[in-house]
Amino acid sequence: MNCYDCEEQLERQKPAVGTCAHCGLGVCSEHSEVVHPVVRRFSGMTAARVGSDSRRLVCGACRRAERGAEASAYH
Ligand SMILES: [Zn+2]
Ligand SMILES: [Zn+2]
Repeated sequence: MNCYDCEEQLERQKPAVGTCAHCGLGVCSEHSEVVHPVVRRFSGMTAARVGSDSRRLVCGACRRAERGAEASAYH
């Protein structure tokens, strides 16, 4: 499987490192981001925001869409 963005935008073929967790397209390391969802862990009375051990690969387009959703959630 080759990176979708490389073929679409750069008209070159590059092997994909994985598939986007959202849209399922194959993406290379250049066109994807590994996201570590933030989870809240409670220990005693203090709540700490720590990165979880889980991870997912997200392509550039879906990452931008996610960022947009996060930003608009504050307004
Ligand atoms: Zn690519
Ligand atoms: Zn995607």
